[in-house]
Amino acid sequence: MKIYTIGGFTEVGKNMTVVDMGDDAVIFDAGVYLPALIELQEEEEHQKTYSEKKLRQIEALPDDLILDKLGVRKKVRAILLGHAHLDHLGAVPYISYRYKAPVVGTPFTLAVLKKILQDEKIKIPNKLITVNPNSSFIIKGKKRSYKAEFINVTHSTLQTSMIALHTPEGVVLYANDFKLDNTPIMGLPPNYEALKRIAKQGVKALIIDSLYSGDNKKTPSEKVARALVEEVLMTIKNEKSAIFVSTFSSHIARIKSIVDYGKKLNRKIYVIGRSMNKYISAANEVGMCPFRRDIQIGSYKRQVESILKTVSKNRRNSLVICTGHQGEPGSILDRLSRKKLPFEFNQNDNIIFSSKTIPVPANMANKENMDKRFRKIGVRIFDDVHVSGHGGREDLRDLISIVKPKHIIPAHGSTRQLTPMIELAREMGYKTGKECHLMQDGQVLEV
Ligand SMILES: [Zn+2]
Repeated sequence: MKIYTIGGFTEVGKNMTVVDMGDDAVIFDAGVYLPALIELQEEEEHQKTYSEKKLRQIEALPDDLILDKLGVRKKVRAILLGHAHLDHLGAVPYISYRYKAPVVGTPFTLAVLKKILQDEKIKIPNKLITVNPNSSFIIKGKKRSYKAEFINVTHSTLQTSMIALHTPEGVVLYANDFKLDNTPIMGLPPNYEALKRIAKQGVKALIIDSLYSGDNKKTPSEKVARALVEEVLMTIKNEKSAIFVSTFSSHIARIKSIVDYGKKLNRKIYVIGRSMNKYISAANEVGMCPFRRDIQIGSYKRQVESILKTVSKNRRNSLVICTGHQGEPGSILDRLSRKKLPFEFNQNDNIIFSSKTIPVPANMANKENMDKRFRKIGVRIFDDVHVSGHGGREDLRDLISIVKPKHIIPAHGSTRQLTPMIELAREMGYKTGKECHLMQDGQVLEV
């Protein structure tokens, strides 16, 4: 078989991998490159949609046009999505029409995709098919069919799967993104039984999230992040001050923890920002938003302004969850810091970042400049109240030990992020270039 590493092997973003089995091919993920997109974004209230051509120009989409040249495009029988993050599904609205294939994912993943399609007013011709966590989808090929198993795993959004594609040559396991969290706050723990079973059946190739392969650690459970949220909210001196918390909109489990402790403080909880509304509505639609009745959501300009005016009058009884943890231009926190919204921070008000600034120059600069504006007023800032959704080196070692793949293909980063994974594989007895392969965007590996 041939494995095309289309996107996410030269940068952190626009993930896309294609497996070509001769008569038939399958796509894993079709994500966007976020920093490129953020630079395009206007203020939230007049967000624009961009054309495929424009997005290709700024290299925000994976370069799947090479599949046409290689004669692979017409053989694609399914587009399989591992989870709901934009760097894994954000390109689907723009490129899926090029394939006569269904788009398949878990209920939450597809609910998010549908929200994006609605929001951007894009219609795609592909069938959208939901598969429950720990269930399978049968892909119809030219002469035979293939089973794609959606094996539940933990990550920073709901219903994330590792996808096991059963081929005549063995299983291809797409494990991009994950961590191994046995005590998640929402959803199921990793399905180790399924991983052990496919190991017995024989894993031919493992495409593995290597973002933190250079960090010598096991990424802590989401229950640790919940404890960090509890610590900050319940122990800081905050009786008289406003509390704003920002986190990843797609991180429903984290939002749940923030809501739970906000309630313990007897504060009314408001959630504002377009993307917050998008992910929370998607979670609610699939029955995974236990806190929906405990919050008031504001998405559009007028709703946001009205909520902020109310908070302004009741600052000691309110807690606001909002967008802007990366200092993104146009996000709620960014606009608050520029005094473009009807709420003024006072000295000793609190802004809690239940997030980590993604270490790319644009984000670092945005966040730093936003922090400066808040600090000028004397706002207290709490960074890194967060635990990652990506496994560290020792999680990766565990996964490899369980599934015992023949070939390892590090994914989710540039050479800087992927190289430590190559070293780890070598430590575990894999021969570099023969069994463990350092790939770049636009390359092909024959195994
Ligand atoms: Zn992810």
